[in-house]
Amino acid sequence: MPDAGGDSHKSESYKTDVIIIGGGPVGLFAVFELGLLGLSAHVVDILDRPGGQCAELYPEKTILDIPSRLKITGQELTNDLMTQIEPFHPTFHFQQMAEKVEKLENGHWRLVTDQGTTLEAPVLLIAGGGGSFMPKKPKLDRLEEFDGESIFYAVRKMEQFRGKNVLIAGGGDSALDWVVNLNPIVSGMSLVHRRNEFRGAQATVDQMYALVAAGKVNLAIGDILRLNGEGGQLTSVTLKSTEKGEFDVPCDVMLAFYGLTMKLGPIAEWGLNMDNNRVAVSTETFETSTPGIFCIGDMCYYPGKLKLILSGFHESALMAHACFHYARPNQKLRFEHTTSSSSIQAKLGVS
Ligand SMILES: Cc1cc2nc3c(=O)[nH]c(=O)nc-3n(C[C@H](O)[C@H](O)[C@H](O)COP(=O)(O)OP(=O)(O)OC[C@H]3O[C@@H](n4cnc5c(N)ncnc54)[C@H](O)[C@@H]3O)c2cc1C
Repeated sequence: MPDAGGDSHKSESYKTDVIIIGGGPVGLFAVFELGLLGLSAHVVDILDRPGGQCAELYPEKTILDIPSRLKITGQELTNDLMTQIEPFHPTFHFQQMAEKVEKLENGHWRLVTDQGTTLEAPVLLIAGGGGSFMPKKPKLDRLEEFDGESIFYAVRKMEQFRGKNVLIAGGGDSALDWVVNLNPIVSGMSLVHRRNEFRGAQATVDQMYALVAAGKVNLAIGDILRLNGEGGQLTSVTLKSTEKGEFDVPCDVMLAFYGLTMKLGPIAEWGLNMDNNRVAVSTETFETSTPGIFCIGDMCYYPGKLKLILSGFHESALMAHACFHYARPNQKLRFEHTTSSSSIQAKLGVS
């Protein structure tokens, strides 16, 4: 697998040929099509790993309509795409929201993420799918007061939680994974869930129950009623259950893992022509209404568009050829087949 750990370079600046927003299957295949033409790419995704909907929503479901792959799971497709783009060494910036875009005097684009990473390129490619995955937040009074101060929805740096009394809320894989992974570095830990049934992988559920049995995790079953604390600092959470009534669980920090939802997010603010919350494109070039900004995959709209992975793959090839002249204005693009082009074969390391 190529290096997918680019998020260690936060708050730095990079130049590349194409900035890709979205590391779903279409963004990943775009890296390949661009690479065939000798164009480099950086990929920004709010998720902590590649694969978009395939990896996040249906990693173990079988996809039956990828040409020549009789069946393949969402995760297998992601893994294979990552292997396929390995020769082109893309840089990934995970857990970062593509937030602001501005045009520079030299005609290039500057993208700034919510983590302060700055990327500059002659081409900006939106492969944002159904939008950025955002955490579902609990509907609780005073949430805004604590949000981002002592309530979080992701673990960006484990060190942030060292020595803290951490309350983890949720019953799925993310909640259970963080119970297991953070447990060695925290001063106290509670796991709060509505019922004593968990949806995570059985091995992780077993590890969690072992930590409970060892007295390292306080398992509290109930609904969260209230957040308690002052000035953004949580001191406890009040739960309610039929067995115990109302009771408080002390904590310094709450990590809430209630799943993800997809939102169009900042892309809607970039002045692009939109159609039903999707970005309108030309079907010849996949360029948007703004020259130099392209869009492919589920997020683009044109008459007859089908939200299928194979459509996104086709769009990637046309987009790559169309955006070449922005990145290499003094070069002529030659159409070549991978079967017969020795230069493509050299790029891919095959002969
Ligand atoms: C349950 C299910 C089953 C499916 N089955 C099939 C099937 O059998 N065959 C098929 O062809 N298709 C299927 N699909 C559809 C398929 O998954 C989508 O067509 C495909 O994922 C689109 O790929 P994409 O790369 O365009 O977008 P996505 O996979 O949505 O990836 C987009 C990525 O962009 C990121 N992103 C968006 N905005 C930002 C931003 N501002 N900053 C940072 N990151 C951002 C998102 O976090 C996401 O990771 C299925 C979908 C679902 C939900």
